[in-house]
Amino acid sequence: MKYLLGIDQGTTQTTAVVVDETGEMIEKNSAQLPARFPQAGWVEQEPADIVRTVKEACAPLLAKYEISAVGFDNQGETFVVWDKDNGEPVTPAIVWQDTRGQSVCDALAPSVDVESLRQKTGLLLDSYFSAPKLKWVFENYPEIRKKAHEGKLKFGTTETWVIWKLSGGKLHITDPSTASRTLLFNVNKFEWDEDLLKLFDIPRSMLPEVKPSAGHVGDVDFGDGKPLPLHALLVDQQAALFGQACFKAGEMKCSFGTGSFLLMNIGDKPKLSNNGLLTTVGWNFDGHTAYAFDGGIFVTGSAVQWLRDNLKVIPDSAASHDSALRSTDAGVVVIPALQGLAAPHWRTDVRGAMFGLNRSTSSDDIVRATLDGIACRVYEVVMAMSQDLGQKPPHLKVDGGPSGNPYLMQMIADLLDLEVRVSAALEATAIGIANLAGVSALGITFDDLSRNWKSEKAYAPTMSAADRDNKLAQWNKALGAVKAFHN
Ligand code: ADP
Repeated sequence: MKYLLGIDQGTTQTTAVVVDETGEMIEKNSAQLPARFPQAGWVEQEPADIVRTVKEACAPLLAKYEISAVGFDNQGETFVVWDKDNGEPVTPAIVWQDTRGQSVCDALAPSVDVESLRQKTGLLLDSYFSAPKLKWVFENYPEIRKKAHEGKLKFGTTETWVIWKLSGGKLHITDPSTASRTLLFNVNKFEWDEDLLKLFDIPRSMLPEVKPSAGHVGDVDFGDGKPLPLHALLVDQQAALFGQACFKAGEMKCSFGTGSFLLMNIGDKPKLSNNGLLTTVGWNFDGHTAYAFDGGIFVTGSAVQWLRDNLKVIPDSAASHDSALRSTDAGVVVIPALQGLAAPHWRTDVRGAMFGLNRSTSSDDIVRATLDGIACRVYEVVMAMSQDLGQKPPHLKVDGGPSGNPYLMQMIADLLDLEVRVSAALEATAIGIANLAGVSALGITFDDLSRNWKSEKAYAPTMSAADRDNKLAQWNKALGAVKAFHN
């Protein structure tokens, strides 16, 4: 049996998995990655911690298994800048959630042709992406800007940084999916864009070489003196899309956690959304190109956390299922917009609300309405993506903690009138990147992966069209009122 190592360098932890050639996960190991919040809106990590967690997560697995190939996914927009001669970081890792690039975006906004930016990158001018934050670093630390323009510094997203370290400074590489999160990458031409580099004042010399998402791109040594071939690179959400075997246009996944991240494969052409969704590279290698629509819902699992910790109406998150089933009043509506409404409303100012309370409203009714509200948000993003692509997905594949909530998954299936399939694999992301390494190194095919993908549970829609229409009409009325309240 041949083994693959998948490394998921995520925001809160690094998870490593060993997967066999049938795509079955054999063993996993994680290391927690701390973050610090030095000022309001700032989120940083220690670059050395990122390297350490990768080594720690992999070490026990490397000691036990003979690995044929490695795949490595990353946080996306999070980046580090370091000195190319001594390998010392000159910035912290500035995390995707960090908003310090907002002032840069505000200053550039009047002079930027947002439509052309969208055509080139698939993205919006937003501090979420790497480039505005790198420009912020240059504006606030002129000596870093000077060194960068003298060709003395390197930029890298988290995989680029770790791979540089693990290759002794030999490899300075990324892949098109990760490059597409910087706001510097032309997703039509698959190259760094000269105009955007000028706009953000970033020298080409500090950017990594963009390699295909799969293929033998070099070797990495985790510290045991045994270099292993690196065969796959992707952003974490794209790795989850791959791990969920969403290979055809229209197929999509929703990864649930504190927030929910939805990605829809839209085929090999970069379509732009009319609903404000992002267009991103799914993967690009060897004649395989997938683009994806990307839509995040910031508050889903965290709304359940809020029921548990703030309202104290459930003892733990999973108990929200039983509580919802006990509810006898479907007339309550909760808009769980605890941190604004993103796709497809784009109203960051909106906050949550409850409607339809009466003298006999119980905590169970509020729990149920909160889960219904989460389901309605998922419905809206899936429908926006379907509208933009011109086709509905065949089903919705889901993973993450809240996908273990039967009430919530059934409600999503009912509202979408689609089957919801829960992945049997808890680590869809790390398995996805290991599988992609297997495609490159072992000749595993997309068909093999589709056949091997297993669903732990599937929820078929059972709601009548009339009930569905009622539910959605009630939601839309409440949503209209909330938007008006915050106008
Ligand atoms: P992470 O976000 O760290 O990847 P999880 O995938 O376990 O972690 O998701 C954690 C979030 O999901 C928490 O906000 C928690 O409240 C919520 N959650 C976990 N399990 C359930 C469940 N069975 N039902 C509803 N919400 C859940």
